[in-house]
Amino acid sequence: MSDPVLEIRGLRKAYGKIEAVRGVDLTIQPGEIVGLLGPNGAGKSTLFQIAAGLFAPDGGEVRLFGLDYRGNSSAILRRLGVVFQSRSVDLDMTVFANLAFHGNLFGLTGKLLRERIAEATALLEIEDLVKQSVRTLSGGNQRRVEIARALLNAPDLLLMDEPTVGLDPVMRRLVVTHMEKVRASRGTSILWSTHLVEEVERADRIAVMKAGEVVSESTPAGLCAATGATDLTQAYIRLTGGNAAVN
Ligand code: ATP
Repeated sequence: MSDPVLEIRGLRKAYGKIEAVRGVDLTIQPGEIVGLLGPNGAGKSTLFQIAAGLFAPDGGEVRLFGLDYRGNSSAILRRLGVVFQSRSVDLDMTVFANLAFHGNLFGLTGKLLRERIAEATALLEIEDLVKQSVRTLSGGNQRRVEIARALLNAPDLLLMDEPTVGLDPVMRRLVVTHMEKVRASRGTSILWSTHLVEEVERADRIAVMKAGEVVSESTPAGLCAATGATDLTQAYIRLTGGNAAVN
């Protein structure tokens, strides 16, 4: 059996006295879409940033593709795609130039680079926008460029931290559909962090985070059954004791 693409055990991280992540376990198997669902401040971004190798935890273990970041970061990053919460494309460059620059960083050039850009832009349905400067695009289309960029190295795991922030409901749904297509066509595993229930209702599994802990983890139906809820929004409210953001 192949290694999990992500395996987190007993993860802890504090900022001074704030315990942002308090002993979290989370595993993602190859090809799974897993939602990390929780209210603002639950610790999702902190977990995400540690999984992306941006900083080390105070305690616990993080393994990607069976590897620890210590001594293996290049091998891990080659197989990882990351979409951060804040925008990180160059506005004055064209879509193609942004993608080509990023592809070059992964050592992609020539025909292979052009093929990867064509494939990623087709998956995100932005092929017709490649010659435009990013500044001229809507927020939703800029987001699609960032997701396409994260696909260029054909990652085995895609980490997406609130990838739909600032998008309208129609574009949010479209991004969810795009990601389901990416998984179907490439078998890419996806960790999708959000505070919006509707974005993860079709995920394979959902880990619900609250105050630094995963309070429950199951399939969407499993979360409903465990909480006696009639739908996922109700399950989420019961688990977090808060208001569910649905749009
Ligand atoms: P959001 O959706 O608002 O980003 P989140 O679930 O991603 O929320 P985190 O951003 O990980 O949660 O924050 C968890 C806790 O850690 C919060 O109390 C937050 O204020 C605190 N925190 C996060 N980053 C820092 C930091 N760099 N310095 C100090 N405190 C931080």
